[in-house]
Amino acid sequence: MEYFIIITLAGIAIWLSWRLVTLRKGIEALTGALKKEPFPDRDTIPDSTLQDRLGRLTKVVLDTVAEAELQRASEAGYRRIHDVLLDQIEEALLLVDENQVVRFSNRAARKLLSDSNSHVDRPLIEICLDHRIVETVDLALQTGGEMQDQIELSKNSQTLLVGAGPIDPAYKIGTGAWIVIRDITLQLQTEQMRKDFVANASHELRTPLSIISGYLEMMDEEAESGPVKVMRKHTERVSRIVEDMLMISKLESNDESLLSPEIFDIGDCIVGIVEHLQPLLDKNHSKIKIDLPGKNERSFFGDRFYWDQILFNLIENALKQNPRSGINVTVRVVEEKNGRFTVEVIDNGVGIPASDLPEIFKRFYRVDKAHNQSKIKGTGLGLSIVKRAVEAHRGTISVTSFPGKETCFRISVPGPPGNVAKQTPQSERKNA
Ligand code: ADP
Repeated sequence: MEYFIIITLAGIAIWLSWRLVTLRKGIEALTGALKKEPFPDRDTIPDSTLQDRLGRLTKVVLDTVAEAELQRASEAGYRRIHDVLLDQIEEALLLVDENQVVRFSNRAARKLLSDSNSHVDRPLIEICLDHRIVETVDLALQTGGEMQDQIELSKNSQTLLVGAGPIDPAYKIGTGAWIVIRDITLQLQTEQMRKDFVANASHELRTPLSIISGYLEMMDEEAESGPVKVMRKHTERVSRIVEDMLMISKLESNDESLLSPEIFDIGDCIVGIVEHLQPLLDKNHSKIKIDLPGKNERSFFGDRFYWDQILFNLIENALKQNPRSGINVTVRVVEEKNGRFTVEVIDNGVGIPASDLPEIFKRFYRVDKAHNQSKIKGTGLGLSIVKRAVEAHRGTISVTSFPGKETCFRISVPGPPGNVAKQTPQSERKNA
């Protein structure tokens, strides 16, 4: 009996040590395989180590790791594809973290910024050309909004358009900002050349045109003939276009001395224009209502010449674009609580179709449908002048139109310097 127990125990001991050896071999195979670079194929591991329960565990671990490896490889592949594509873009693109340390930059960024070495993990201030780029990014990070700045580099007369905004948390790539930098030097030069050409051509055309006009006027008086009348009409139109183009060129010149600002009463300006347009008002049986703040609350600071142009073009449009008689026009000036002024020119005429609204401030744009433009005198430059003149006064203009009901051109401009924001109750406003 004792022998039997001893033999059984010895058997168990041998079996246990055999299991231990197999277990050790399996663990060694597993750890060895996991350490290998590149990760081994399951087939390279001896079959013997994959037989029992540990072997099955080994198989599962190897398969999972192999799958993860495959996924990593495909992600790296996608990243390389993105890099290739982003490198083809002309704009410099960068991503920075919340401390303005670069996490990504494309080829254009490496070319544009101080050196072509990798930017990754370097502070933006170290690699960017100008501190204003960092300031724009800083502002975007602080405010959480998109920022844009045009930066002129004195070193090589380059102009850069810098855009920056916070990274949307939905991308789940951490906090930070994206930066897009576009070199607009060439674009600005071309634009300047175009402006110079228009200004020079208009200037050169002015003198011969006035001579032709003068002669045609004389001939018209003497001959009263049809063709001369037609020639005069067209010469007048070309002269008007040339004058309008010259005015646009001046307004586009960004010349600081373009405006001769003074304090003036916007009410006087409006009344003067309405008097000037009285014949057109009478002809169309149209009515005009002028709604102004009190005398002491309507002092504008600006160039009276350009304000005459702005209001003349808007009021004349309200009258002339509407062939139907009996149009009601309202010109309203309101001093806002923040010290700015709002000027509105409203009519209840034919209106502007929604599809044309974004276009009407463009040069030579005229709405054809419903307006019968051949009968309406105009160059298509009036609203371009208005927009540029308003912008020269640091203002904005917008338009809304419900054809046949109400068309409203709304201007917002800063009040005179040091204008204390005064609240003007509606009842204090009086009709002029
Ligand atoms: P134009 O010299 O033809 O008046 P503008 O630049 O002043 O040129 O206006 C552009 C176009 O916008 C006009 O041709 C007209 O079709 C449209 N428009 C401007 N103001 C009005 C208005 N109050 N009502 C309807 N259409 C208008």
